Amino acid sequence: MELTGGCLCGQVRYRSTGAPLRQFLCHCRDCQRSSGSAFHHGVAVPREGFTLLSGQPAVYRSTADSGRAIARHFCVNCGSGLWNEIELRPGVLGLRAGTLDDPGLVPPRYEIYARSKAGWLVTDVLESHPDMTPVPKPTR
Ligand SMILES: [Zn+2]
Ligand SMILES: [Zn+2]
Repeated sequence: MELTGGCLCGQVRYRSTGAPLRQFLCHCRDCQRSSGSAFHHGVAVPREGFTLLSGQPAVYRSTADSGRAIARHFCVNCGSGLWNEIELRPGVLGLRAGTLDDPGLVPPRYEIYARSKAGWLVTDVLESHPDMTPVPKPTR
């Protein structure tokens, strides 16, 4: 699936051509703070199919709730968060779905860190996990 996106000011543009691996909402406190909103809508895509088309995002590194290192890429000009990389899942980028040109292509299938989900928020997803979801086992 081809997904294209970019930041608010347009300096950073990207394209992803791999099949999305996961489409989820994260309600962890770090994602709430980092996004300035109630949750993070993430789309995990293979790094292989990812191309930075323009711009040079900056990176903020911290330790996630899971205890793993997370690198959040953002535009230095407008501050939009673009994608995350976590140590737990090498070879995968977590696009911030709000930066996609068409976020409707990749609706969330499940949610994680529901224990810190906003009390007023009702979500229509297949699965809800109080913390991190288990890493899926290979199907082959
Ligand atoms: Zn920007
Ligand atoms: Zn999170």
